[in-house]
Amino acid sequence: MDEKDKNNMEQENGQDASENEKTTKKKEKDEYEKICYMCRRPESVAGPMISMPGGMDVCPSCLQKAFDSVMGGNFDFGKLDLNQLDKLDKDKSNTGFPPFLMNLSSINPIPKRQQVKKKKEKTDAEPTFKLDDIPAPHKIKAQLDEYVVGQEMAKKVISVAVYNHYKRIFVKERGDKDVVIEKSNILMIGPTGSGKTYLVKTLAKLLNVPLAIADATSLTEAGYIGDDIESVVSKLLAAADNDVEKAEHGIIFIDEIDKIAKKKNMNTRDVSGEAVQQELLKLLEGSTVDVPVGGGQKNAMTPMTSVNTDNILFICGGAFPDLEEIIKERLTKTSSMGFGADLKDKYDKDPTLLSKVSNEDLRKFGMIPEFLGRLPVTVTLQGLTKEFLVRILREPKNAIIRQYEKLLELDEVKLNFEEEALERIAEEAMKKDTGARALRAILEEYMLDIMYEIPKDSNIGSVTITKAYLDKKGGPLIEMRA
Ligand code: ADP
Repeated sequence: MDEKDKNNMEQENGQDASENEKTTKKKEKDEYEKICYMCRRPESVAGPMISMPGGMDVCPSCLQKAFDSVMGGNFDFGKLDLNQLDKLDKDKSNTGFPPFLMNLSSINPIPKRQQVKKKKEKTDAEPTFKLDDIPAPHKIKAQLDEYVVGQEMAKKVISVAVYNHYKRIFVKERGDKDVVIEKSNILMIGPTGSGKTYLVKTLAKLLNVPLAIADATSLTEAGYIGDDIESVVSKLLAAADNDVEKAEHGIIFIDEIDKIAKKKNMNTRDVSGEAVQQELLKLLEGSTVDVPVGGGQKNAMTPMTSVNTDNILFICGGAFPDLEEIIKERLTKTSSMGFGADLKDKYDKDPTLLSKVSNEDLRKFGMIPEFLGRLPVTVTLQGLTKEFLVRILREPKNAIIRQYEKLLELDEVKLNFEEEALERIAEEAMKKDTGARALRAILEEYMLDIMYEIPKDSNIGSVTITKAYLDKKGGPLIEMRA
């Protein structure tokens, strides 16, 4: 092949690439809905858009407003020949605007994160949701087992609740009307660092559905400083890549739900407690809400779209401090009379006390009955013992120790831990009272010197972290390569 041919080929390849780029851009554009440049509402809300010169779209009501302001209300937009506007757009030589419109190209283009994906057209024969996509409960639990240590009951209850939730969507989309299956939203109670968030994150990943994690402490009643309830759904929409249909099958995890308990002895309006619970009711039960697109706050320039929360699985989690006291009080009260009376301190050291929680206890804690009624599945997580913490260090698929092993493996060094050293780390984590969260920080501190020194000497073949090293009474055990 001579030089000329080569150049021609390169040119053709270049053209091909730009063609491809153009078609992918066009495809991407076709995927998203048109948005009105003036009111920022998408086509599904504001109606069919009118394309203006300069590639901008305006909805009929904004265009009518523009006419009204210029013509003093004497012009009926409905009678306008829209083909005229189309012609203006197609006529490349025409760069001007109709005299009654302002120059809209001075407005910034709408960013991608604020654009909404078009809804796919549904055919009756093909439901959007397939039951085969969702694994059976025992498979969900087996996959959770790979990542989450212990919490057997919680994993079992969640696997069944999630499977039932998606079955419910399937039945609904198929149009069965004989039995209506109710939503199985979940309330998760467990001390901090016991793996609530981790469990939900793992679940969403293995089900391959979008997940939004929101914090109940930032929510306030509409109109007060703080996030509106809809911001929770807005986050899910962002996680689903602005695809409303995908978001409507997602999971929302609301953390710190105990912080919106009814405040006691309040003289003013409880805008971040009881009022938030009241407002959450409609989301939990399933309703259509208008949410800002792009994860931001509502304002005049943020496009809005509607999302139906009926098929969204809500999981609310919280540590509920002092709840154990309430449970203990109820249990000792009911059994403090007669021959079967229990000793007062019988439940003091009961590790399963939290699992005996009842709706009555939660009501006493400050949750309103309507709210609890919409979270029919209650899951309790156990506080982590020393043995659990050692297992968390070692067993999960992405255990912290495995991560360090992998890092040193790249230097061809084998990393070992003495059993006693792991126990020592777990003991130290127990003292911090933040559950498994403390483990990483503690280990990071001890591993700093190891990770710094070991790569210096390429003859090192293995290193063992000993209890003596952690106690600062000795060094790690180092073996050279044979
Ligand atoms: P919280 O209950 O406060 O939401 P997290 O889920 O954030 O706690 O847990 C903090 C970290 O601790 C997680 O990122 C995870 O690595 C670890 N962890 C906690 N519990 C477990 C568990 N049962 N199995 C494995 N890792 C866990």
